[in-house]
Amino acid sequence: EGNIQEFSYKAEMKQLLNLIVHSLYTHPEVFLRELISNSSDALNKVRFRKVTDSNILEPEAELRIKIEIDSEKQTFSIEDSGVGMTQEELVGNIGTVAKSGTLEFFKTIQQNKQTLDGNLIGQFGVGFYSVFMVTDEVTIETRHADADSNGYRWKSKGESSYTIEEIEKPTRGTKISFTLKDDAKEFAEEYKVKSIIQKYSNFVDFPIYLGKEQVNSVTALWQKSKEKTTEEELNEFYKFVANDYQEPLAHLQLSLEGRVSFKSLLFLPKSAPMGLLHLKDEKSLQLYVNKVLIQDDCKDLLPEYLHFIKGVVDTEDLPLNVSREVAQSSPVMAKINQVLTGKVLGWLEELSKNEKTKYEQFYKEFGPLFKQGVNMDYTNRDKIIDLLRFETSKTAKGEMISLKEYIERMKDDQKEIYYLTGEDRSQIERNPNLEYFKKNAIEVLLLTEPVDVFIVPTLFEYDKKELKAIDKADLDLKQDDDKADAEKLSENLAKPLIAVFKEVLGDKVEDVIESKRLVDSPATLVAGKGAMDKQMERMMQMMNK
Ligand code: ADP
Ligand code: MG
Repeated sequence: EGNIQEFSYKAEMKQLLNLIVHSLYTHPEVFLRELISNSSDALNKVRFRKVTDSNILEPEAELRIKIEIDSEKQTFSIEDSGVGMTQEELVGNIGTVAKSGTLEFFKTIQQNKQTLDGNLIGQFGVGFYSVFMVTDEVTIETRHADADSNGYRWKSKGESSYTIEEIEKPTRGTKISFTLKDDAKEFAEEYKVKSIIQKYSNFVDFPIYLGKEQVNSVTALWQKSKEKTTEEELNEFYKFVANDYQEPLAHLQLSLEGRVSFKSLLFLPKSAPMGLLHLKDEKSLQLYVNKVLIQDDCKDLLPEYLHFIKGVVDTEDLPLNVSREVAQSSPVMAKINQVLTGKVLGWLEELSKNEKTKYEQFYKEFGPLFKQGVNMDYTNRDKIIDLLRFETSKTAKGEMISLKEYIERMKDDQKEIYYLTGEDRSQIERNPNLEYFKKNAIEVLLLTEPVDVFIVPTLFEYDKKELKAIDKADLDLKQDDDKADAEKLSENLAKPLIAVFKEVLGDKVEDVIESKRLVDSPATLVAGKGAMDKQMERMMQMMNK
């Protein structure tokens, strides 16, 4: 037995712990889901290691989770035969805030005097610490799967420090134990623990024993037939893989055989994570080979513009010991990506037709990323374009239509598709360039999303109709029928007036001309024929800063 070494939590972790311990009240049972989820991760890792590395500790040990409770003593322990942790991992993985923005998020919630929902915690990479909802002190005993590893005991009261000492531990894996607080003593009751496991962790891919009895039914949910999976199982599975506390918006279950064979269970989350455009940190799909988890966050299964989709893909067409690099460049992966992308787009199309509200919710949350597919995926470009949605000068705020609907609503003599960009709807609606179109009941797409300026102009045309920005100079508009000649300035008046404008504005403008597009306003600014879109110009300026 070695010396006990004391370590201080970093300042950020101290603050976070304080918030967790003092403001996390609801759903204390979540601690169990988080601990099981960590054990399951550790078991997945060792299962993978077993395929690639023969020199591991206890190669024959059963891959399982064992929970022991004592209702008299109010004690709880959970033990796994997973990959375990080295001393460096104990210091680096437990006791460090992995995700940036976590502390800020917790602080905002506290400042707003909101109760922090315990359900949320797993999302932030500090799931382990939810255990301090039910106890005042935790002990971790762990030994890494490397044959020449040492055992360690880690202890903390979740305040400012923790200790680590070397211990004798013959077995591989991790055991976490603690005494329950009085107000959490129900978690030492068998019926309670059993029901929580069945609610949250029924699909964990390893047996979970409570005492000597196995309490979960080990099934890889995606291997089950569609008819046999229940809504509740799907929801819980989603929360587990996506680390989300909400239920998914929709799911898609696939079982494909042919050029490439795989099973897949995919989910659309209800809401986008903070900072959607930086999805690089977000986990996308899990890759399994024959039920063994190979990659937790496999970015190669779907193109980037679909990386908001969560779930699993399980294939037998890749070798079990496939490395990340090999998987990445394998033709099998490319095929799965191709087939899966087609299926996902088909799924979205189906949603847009049959479940409009859901589709709109999806589009509002993930549209900014999804739309970029137009310029990223030329194979599926037309399908993606059909899935685009727009608010227009004729829709109610929040209501959206497709380009196809726009064309159907056009008057017979309208030859082009019109759009106008701006910061938000009310700003766009005040734009004088819209007057002519309103007066003549011509529908105009209103683009408010910053990415729109990179996408809509690159469409050029839809259904052989050109897309045109109505604040560009090259619009070919009909003269208003009811605009009496009397209202029109005579040439004698117009010419000198334009000359005055030109003289005053000088080279600040390209040209001054008589306009047909104005109804109520006397003058407007438009972009020159070859000029950049105004919003685009603003985006470029922002990026150059
Ligand atoms: P997350 O699971 O999101 O990474 P947690 O706070 O739940 O965040 O766990 C932090 C880290 O601690 C894990 O990523 C893992 O490296 C390590 N860990 C936790 N529990 C175990 C365990 N039972 N076996 C091995 N490593 C573990
Ligand atoms: Mg975890």
